[in-house]
Amino acid sequence: MSATNTTVKYAFPPHEIPSLPIHNSIDVFPVHRIYCVGRNYADHAIEMGHDPSRDEPFFFQKNPDTLVPSGGVFPYPERSNDVHHELEMVVALKSGGRNISIEKALDHVFGYGVGLDMTRRDLQGEAKKAGRPWEIGKAFEHAAPCSALVPASEIGHPVKGAVTLWVNGVLKQQGDLDQLIWKVPEMISYLSGLFELKAGDLIYTGTPAGVGPVQRGDELLGVVEGVGELKIKVA
Ligand code: MN
Repeated sequence: MSATNTTVKYAFPPHEIPSLPIHNSIDVFPVHRIYCVGRNYADHAIEMGHDPSRDEPFFFQKNPDTLVPSGGVFPYPERSNDVHHELEMVVALKSGGRNISIEKALDHVFGYGVGLDMTRRDLQGEAKKAGRPWEIGKAFEHAAPCSALVPASEIGHPVKGAVTLWVNGVLKQQGDLDQLIWKVPEMISYLSGLFELKAGDLIYTGTPAGVGPVQRGDELLGVVEGVGELKIKVA
């Protein structure tokens, strides 16, 4: 046997790299990880029964292959009767690192998008009660709808602007980016102390008050003023 043919091959074809469209571009943004920050608007922390004080931020992750592009369909998931919408601004990174300072954090931002942190609230609630991880409530299939990303070179770094979600034309969630407890540079800096951030990472920045259940047939329209909009249909 010849030892020259040592090319290692995948045992089966590797999965496609998840990606998002980029506003005004034919290029796409290859996604690495999805981080989500919890309880980042005081009024939402209160509606979930928590103290809105500025404790350390906390994070969980969603699987990148659960992204759904705007205009897409969110199939109502298995094993839940209480699936909630959480509308959030999404930060997309073009570079990363560890222990990034607050002052340098925005240098790593590629752009922004509008996302939904879809949540099986009943399963999340059971996990919370049992002191278990949140994956079954947060990281299931199609749990991360997200709009096209708008480069910061086009819109800058939004710090103010309405964050709103309509379900079938009825206003359900309303907040403003200026109500974020942990601001974008603080989130990036803090997260980079816990994980090595990389180009392609997305950060869902938390949701304002008004989260609630979705039903099959619902049409969701999320808007972050100055960033864009996301349309999703529940099927
Ligand atoms: Mn959320």
